[in-house]
Amino acid sequence: MLMMNKKNLLITGSSQGIGLATAKHFSSDYNVYITGRHEQKLEKLCKDNNFTGYFAVDLTQDNACKALYNGLNVDIDILINNAGIYFYSAIEKMTDEDIIKSIKLNTLAPYELIKLYIPYMKRKQWGRIINIGSISGVMGEANASVYSMTKASLIGLTKSLALELAQDNITVNIINPGWVDTELINNENLEQDFSKEEIIETIPQRRFVTPEEIAKTCEFLISDSAKTITGQSINICAGLSLGF
Ligand code: NAD
Repeated sequence: MLMMNKKNLLITGSSQGIGLATAKHFSSDYNVYITGRHEQKLEKLCKDNNFTGYFAVDLTQDNACKALYNGLNVDIDILINNAGIYFYSAIEKMTDEDIIKSIKLNTLAPYELIKLYIPYMKRKQWGRIINIGSISGVMGEANASVYSMTKASLIGLTKSLALELAQDNITVNIINPGWVDTELINNENLEQDFSKEEIIETIPQRRFVTPEEIAKTCEFLISDSAKTITGQSINICAGLSLGF
């Protein structure tokens, strides 16, 4: 239910994984809007978790962001660009279709959604934008070149917009998770090269990051305590960015 005294928060890719955990984390203090591709799943999640609204859309399709914006038809104070797709494949095996899909979902959709929601945040002179990148966009990852490319470009977007919007009381930050045990890493190609145990052996803290830990970092970035934190690229990666 829409509560007039609460801020509106939209998180993309919130039907599962990090997005769903983050949506749940915020559901009592904010009007939370969720998105994903499957209408019935979103409808049930909305009912079960007391989310305020949902809209089903494939963000790789033409005009998808505009459809989401018009479909929700609500001003958004806090935008978390979380939806993402991961391909683990040698560069010569990546199909044109999957390259384009990665760029559209991981890079262009965040850009377009920010563009759509910024006019309201500027009018309000308050806003919070959080992009979910990846440690692969910070360090590089063999066999994930397109993914790393799309996530690295989100860092450039984040820093540029943080500067552009600095005087409008709008902060823009990016969180770069390390390995999080979600559907995203239940990837056939990846599993052929590494078991989960082998992945853990490469992480300095010898553990996955949890979706809730990402949600808690989002909570801090949205809070008043973080109003001077903008344009920052924050690695939540259990030490992965430090090397071995
Ligand atoms: P996930 O696969 O569990 O969830 C991805 C979400 O994106 C889902 O809600 C899905 O519906 C949505 N989505 C996928 N394709 C879509 C499309 N075409 N249109 C609209 N929505 C679509 O993954 P996750 O691990 O929760 O990942 C969330 C974010 O975190 C992603 O941006 C991912 O790149 C990033 N990330 C994840 C990890 C990890 O290890 N899991 C590590 C670093 C970064």
